[in-house]
Amino acid sequence: MDIRSLFRANVREMAPYSTARDEYAGDLGIYLDANENPFENGFNRYPDPHNRRIRTKVSEMRGVSSDRIFVGGNGSDEAIDLLFRVFCEPREDEALAISPSYGMYRVAAATNDVRLTEVALAEEFRLDADRFLAAATPRTKLAFLCSPNNPSANLLDPAEVERVIRGFDGVVVLDEAYIDFADHEGFLSRLDEFPNLVVLQTLSKAWGMAGIRIGFAFAGPEIVAAMERIKYPYSVNVITERLVLGELEKEAERREQIAVLVDERKKLIVALERLPMVRRVFPSDANFLLVRVDEPRRVYDRLIERGIIVRDRSRIPGCEGCLRLTVGTPEENAALIEAMAQLDEPTPDGATFTPVRSGGRRATVSRRSRETDISITLSLDPVSGSESQIATGLGFFDHMLEQIVHHGGFALQLSARGDLAVDEHHTIEDTALVLGEAFRLALGDKRGIGRYGFALPMDESRALVLLDFGGRIATRWKVEFRRERIGDVPTEMFEHFFDSFAQAARCNLHIAARGRNEHHKIEAVFKAFARALRMAVERKPLDFNLPSSKGLL
Ligand SMILES: *Cc1c(COP(=O)(O)O)cnc(C)c1O
Repeated sequence: MDIRSLFRANVREMAPYSTARDEYAGDLGIYLDANENPFENGFNRYPDPHNRRIRTKVSEMRGVSSDRIFVGGNGSDEAIDLLFRVFCEPREDEALAISPSYGMYRVAAATNDVRLTEVALAEEFRLDADRFLAAATPRTKLAFLCSPNNPSANLLDPAEVERVIRGFDGVVVLDEAYIDFADHEGFLSRLDEFPNLVVLQTLSKAWGMAGIRIGFAFAGPEIVAAMERIKYPYSVNVITERLVLGELEKEAERREQIAVLVDERKKLIVALERLPMVRRVFPSDANFLLVRVDEPRRVYDRLIERGIIVRDRSRIPGCEGCLRLTVGTPEENAALIEAMAQLDEPTPDGATFTPVRSGGRRATVSRRSRETDISITLSLDPVSGSESQIATGLGFFDHMLEQIVHHGGFALQLSARGDLAVDEHHTIEDTALVLGEAFRLALGDKRGIGRYGFALPMDESRALVLLDFGGRIATRWKVEFRRERIGDVPTEMFEHFFDSFAQAARCNLHIAARGRNEHHKIEAVFKAFARALRMAVERKPLDFNLPSSKGLL
């Protein structure tokens, strides 16, 4: 592959600007060549335009020869812009990038008036080389990959990355800003194999130098020379150079910090997964986590009130509902978790909720208030033989709840102690709230579940239950009773039960029933509700798509 033929014509033809310091590169002497102020203050001299000392140091550290290293004086963002300027004729040439990914590719493309096509990653943010390459046109000069990817946090499959490099007729820019946090060495050692590969790395992340703006592009000597030719001549200033050289000596210290951050990342994942608002923590090979939460904007705002700033990525296609959380120090991470755990507002009557989501699709929720003390453990996919126990102190209510368990195929431990001496109201209402919360929690991120439920005849009665976990909360109730009570339950409480359940489970619930026998009628409602629940929560094996065209529930 002739890389030079990919250059823009003006870059191919131009001679580099030669600085005063190009002509003489020694360290000692009387410098009367660059019209500087001769009185020393530590920065009265121009810096080395070719960053020889930094390149030598990085060359030793990364095992890449100096002529394959470009040093960017404004981080690797500078390299991204320069690559467009080396390769892309404005308004003619094109570039490709994965999506979601780092925003700078789009900014640099727009600045250079180059059309950028963004190719959505496959499910679970996987790179599909064929799909990606299919989006290239004969005018596509640059293809941006980012691994580990920002904001999805995952390492792209190296085999797929390699297929893109081999299959693309232009230059592949592989952004490895986060590679130090991954359990993979990246592609630097394979630079010789691929003349069309540019690897970007930065000192802004793992190396702790975001404030001084240094980044690198590693590539074949021709590409590096072309970037050198068009960059600003003294883009790395003398203060930055001095700091970089000092910091690069501290590799052992840096490795220790990286190990701490990787360990913190693990702990943070465990802690986040226990929070009821958290639907999904995506796997991370970087120093941040992409986390899908309920009501991301509210969580974001409430964290700001507590002085914790995270990144709201919920409006980015593919990241719906997600916040991006950088792994901080152990103390900062503890503060984050504590703040998030406190976010769920106390319920109006002063009740306290303690919800826990455990492995599989299980949830435990307890709720204690002045009127009731309720504790529920729910399993949506119980192993056979799991026993259920239901005790609310109301015989007929227990009988109805047993219908849900039996006909829905769930396992449920439920104990409710309420102020039955006053009346049944609080016990039934609060049981519904806790049960709804348990369903919501156990469902997790709703991956692979169906949306709608169904209907059931029973003797002379029939009941219709429609159920949607699509996120909107509503109840419709069309059931009339001719008696005030069935067993020990006031009939007016049934509507209230389902209404409270829908609020807590965040579902849309429509119930209608007709029949002469009141007992049959309400039993049919509970059975149909159980069947509808079962259908709605059923997980199709190997289906990881959300049951919504919006990609978000
Ligand atoms: C942070 C980041 C960079 C680079 O930043 P600089 O500070 O400009 O070196 C590059 N790529 C990705 C994906 C990043 O997240």
